Amino acid sequence: MTIEHKVHVTFPGRLIFIGFGSIGQGVLPLILRHIGGLSCDRITIVTADELGLACAQEYGITHLVQPLTRENFRQVLEPLVGRGDFVLNLSVDVSSIALIKYCWERGALYLDTCLEPWPGGYTDPSVSPSRRTNYALREEALALRKLKDKDKTPKPTAVVTHGANPGLVQHLVKQALLNLAVDLKVDAGDPKTREEWAALAKSVGVKVIHIAERDTQMPSLPKRMNEFVNTWSVEGFISEGCQPAELGWGSHERNFPRDGRKHDFGPGCAIYLMQPGAATRVRTWTPRAGYFHGFLITHGEAMSIADYYTIRDGDQLVYRPTVHYAYHPCDSAVMSLHEFAGRNYRLQDSKRILMNEIESGGIDELGVLLAGHKNNAYWYGSQLSIDEARTLAPHNNATSLQVTVSVLSGMIWAIENPALGVVEPDEMDFRRNLEICMPYLGPVVGEYTDWNPLHDRSRFFVEDIDTSDPWQFKNVRVV
Ligand code: NAD
Repeated sequence: MTIEHKVHVTFPGRLIFIGFGSIGQGVLPLILRHIGGLSCDRITIVTADELGLACAQEYGITHLVQPLTRENFRQVLEPLVGRGDFVLNLSVDVSSIALIKYCWERGALYLDTCLEPWPGGYTDPSVSPSRRTNYALREEALALRKLKDKDKTPKPTAVVTHGANPGLVQHLVKQALLNLAVDLKVDAGDPKTREEWAALAKSVGVKVIHIAERDTQMPSLPKRMNEFVNTWSVEGFISEGCQPAELGWGSHERNFPRDGRKHDFGPGCAIYLMQPGAATRVRTWTPRAGYFHGFLITHGEAMSIADYYTIRDGDQLVYRPTVHYAYHPCDSAVMSLHEFAGRNYRLQDSKRILMNEIESGGIDELGVLLAGHKNNAYWYGSQLSIDEARTLAPHNNATSLQVTVSVLSGMIWAIENPALGVVEPDEMDFRRNLEICMPYLGPVVGEYTDWNPLHDRSRFFVEDIDTSDPWQFKNVRVV
């Protein structure tokens, strides 16, 4: 299928990629197609290794191997970043907070797909588990808004966590809520503010939001021993998989997990479990895969969606959905994770991001499952296949394309809205983002299911369930 290569916006500044792995390489052709006025001689790539060098050379783009550190990042970026430029942070191990502050000093726009700390930030044993969560990283990013308030000058837009999830899924939640409202005959009105969206989620009766993803892409060359295989960053996946599992904690929950912990700072919208996400499984459902067990890997959207859709009356919590990721990565990644955990969470000696060797037929089914309402559960999302992804854009697989098109839409939105400071996906115009993303997402479908986490429960051998409400997290969690 060919799609129209519409130029959505023109950008007169320079573009600096920090990191040029699977997502950087995948987004480059989309940027050149859809953002006008950006010639390759105004793009520079700064990375830690030679990954993507061939791709950069194909486009004639400067590729600097210069790992950024706490000590050197200002000096490296100084000649590359100025007023009106755009810093696209698609790296691991480079602090998002440090880069945002730097972009504000220089007058540059910023976007990342994940809030990253400097190396060790996720695993430093001298830091409490609570401070190693995405909840804590998000609080640090949101606290940057106070800088704006102090000196009263509007800061350049810094879009945080705008990939597929987090990112695209926040926009899918809004469309799914509107679809549900139509089917449940609830008057949705035209929600614009956070309060109006939260009121809509409450009135359609959503108790639970899973970011439910099943990746079925398969390599022609199977995973070998002592190798970690994935369809996107191995380092990125390992880091988030080793963080404590985190979830937005809903107002309908009656059973606090025995290993659950609350934070003693911030809005209190989420909790964490005293075990890594890579060892925490949850029951979920997607239309093509049916029901399955996914990993509850921590992700920024679990916190930001839960916070965005919170309703309070004074100090009293009135409404909040439980929100978390439920991820079944490709089967090779599941085997890799199993081997990794068995090595006591020590990374294998080799790693591979699947791209050209992916066999025909696999899909990445990524969407949002809104559950606990009168129609039980509704999934809305993308069923992009590897075959369609290959026809849509070079240097992508199905997983990366869902991420890269969302990076593109976030960049376009930032260029169109250049002075808003720190912005989360929930706060952006979901229609504008979806309009840009849709042509690259393959079939985007909404489907209902009568499945719930207590389905076929005689098979669990578990006595400790709550039959009064299937959508209690206690029932969702696989113990
Ligand atoms: P990758 O592992 O393929 O590439 C990582 C890149 O970071 C490499 O180019 C590497 O050289 C660079 N890098 C590492 N250390 C660096 C340093 N100190 N200075 C400069 N560059 C450095 O990763 P990827 O799959 O392209 O993912 C990139 C980022 O996007 C990761 O943070 C990942 O977690 C995130 N991501 C988010 C989503 C989402 O949906 N939100 C999806 C996929 C990936």
